[in-house]
Amino acid sequence: MWTRGISMEESREQLEFDVLFVGGGPANLAGAIHLMNMAQKAGREIEVCLVEKAESIGSHSLSGAILDPLALKELMPDYLDKGCPIEERQCRDEFYYLTPGGKFKVPYTPRYMHNDGCHIISLSKYCLWLGEQAEELGVMVFPGFAGSEVLYDEDGKRIIGIRTGDKGIDKDGNKRPNFEPGVDLMAKVTVFGEGSKGSLIREVGKKLGIFDGKMPQVFETAIKEVIEIPESNSFPSPDTTVLHTFGHPLGLGTKGGGFLYKMKDNRVALGFVVGLEYEDPFLEPYQAFLSFKKHPLIAGIIQGGKVLQQGAKTLPAGGFYTMPKLAVDGAVFVGDSASTLNIQRLKGVHTAMKSGMLAAETIMTALEKEDFTSQTLDQYQQKVADSWIHKELYAARNFGQALSKKGFGKFITIGAQYISGGRGFVDPMPIHADSATLTELSNLSANPPESPDTQDLDGKLYLDKLTGLYLSGTSHEENQPCHLVIPNPDLCMTECYDKYRSPCTRFCPAQVYELEQDDNGSKRLKLNPSNCLHCKTCEIKDPYNNIIWTCPEGGGGPKYSIV
Ligand SMILES: Cc1cc2nc3c(=O)[nH]c(=O)nc-3n(C[C@H](O)[C@H](O)[C@H](O)COP(=O)(O)OP(=O)(O)OC[C@H]3O[C@@H](n4cnc5c(N)ncnc54)[C@H](O)[C@@H]3O)c2cc1C
Repeated sequence: MWTRGISMEESREQLEFDVLFVGGGPANLAGAIHLMNMAQKAGREIEVCLVEKAESIGSHSLSGAILDPLALKELMPDYLDKGCPIEERQCRDEFYYLTPGGKFKVPYTPRYMHNDGCHIISLSKYCLWLGEQAEELGVMVFPGFAGSEVLYDEDGKRIIGIRTGDKGIDKDGNKRPNFEPGVDLMAKVTVFGEGSKGSLIREVGKKLGIFDGKMPQVFETAIKEVIEIPESNSFPSPDTTVLHTFGHPLGLGTKGGGFLYKMKDNRVALGFVVGLEYEDPFLEPYQAFLSFKKHPLIAGIIQGGKVLQQGAKTLPAGGFYTMPKLAVDGAVFVGDSASTLNIQRLKGVHTAMKSGMLAAETIMTALEKEDFTSQTLDQYQQKVADSWIHKELYAARNFGQALSKKGFGKFITIGAQYISGGRGFVDPMPIHADSATLTELSNLSANPPESPDTQDLDGKLYLDKLTGLYLSGTSHEENQPCHLVIPNPDLCMTECYDKYRSPCTRFCPAQVYELEQDDNGSKRLKLNPSNCLHCKTCEIKDPYNNIIWTCPEGGGGPKYSIV
């Protein structure tokens, strides 16, 4: 019997650790560092492993990013002396509402939008640095290994580790000459920090029900670039380092907005975020990003510039009411995987790090007691409830829902929440799954556009998707099983095309999905899985929940270094 190319009789290597961290983002890196620090203080030797699917730590990390250093100061008070890579020490904000050709500066910035005391960073550089700190403390860091399966004890109730994906399987499921079977990484505690829409935590959810009774997980998708601009270009006010916008091109009916942050060496971080609960099947986040870039306010700042790197990623926007159960027998869940992002502040690095650190403290207790059941690991849930993570997320518990309201009603709802500590008129406000919100063509009031607007792309500052992909560095072994599983391919042309005109060809920012037509005029969906940026928008937004994102061979994917 064969499973994904390896016979059941063939033995896999098994490695045992005290603690296994799955994912090398800020949540797990902070957790691993904190755990090693505590173990050293206690004079205890522990075996800690961290696996990351990217080729190197940080190369799948993409964010804004404005770092609130709250958790970092707790973790490493001397972070500046330790060479933490910071692009800009000070944040001075401006907040604009954009019309198609104009702008209004918002005179009053709500307290949660203030970024005093925060730093501007590149998340990929920051994670690389955190990874080095973790390694110096003795964490065994293995990039290039994707967790492909969760391992359970015989009863199927306790998590005992993960299996990493086999390498060297061809697209038909046969072994290539370079075949390497995945390894079973066994641990007393496994920490899942897979970020937004984790593929292993999804499976844990199905088996152990950690999302049961919670509101649906919802997301936003963002396209981001780092652009080098001429030295003479400047922000509207010389002191400004952070610019946030809402309005154009989405208006007030669809959630989303833009950001522009100052970086070192005449570079800026430019990004546009779209809430994935949007209704228009013809909306294309990548086109919205280009329209935002072309707005006079933004175009003026970046003119004459050159895009150095581009990428895309989703972020979890549901917050407090969507957080899963945080611990089960043998495992805990941290960071974006556990919906710890504060959408009101568009910040999740500090809360992700703090959740990793609180998990580490609980694991330390579990190691001392030699008890890795949920009885001890549940203390992590309590620690989160007693921490500033809870305070922040509880105050923002209805914010995403209020932002989803259409027109000016959203401002009244947000205002009511602002003065009532997050309660507002209705608490909790409902959340609707992103896959359920598209309007069918037959109910659309406007005619669909004939063809996408190419928006005068110049290949240097304004890029098409494929040029952007080139600048993301994404690459995958071509001869491997498709990591995008479509359980019912017939639905694509029999239902989805007729009702929504194949929205995957638009919501994917990486041109993974394309419509092809043969000589007889029959259409079919063609997949380019090697374009994938691992943003997982497709699994989230597909109206039939007919796309399942699984990890491709470890080491594949984007090669971010400055975003
Ligand atoms: C466009 C954008 C702008 C943002 N702006 C800000 C901001 O300004 N400030 C802020 O604080 N936050 C911001 N955020 C949010 C912030 O980036 C996240 O909250 C934070 O990175 C979450 O950290 P994490 O460790 O939980 O997950 P991630 O940073 O996503 O890290 C998870 C890691 O796990 C790896 N992984 C996933 N699955 C597996 C697997 N099965 N096996 C092995 N490895 C795996 C991934 O490759 C990834 O490296 C922004 C996010 C986006 C997308």
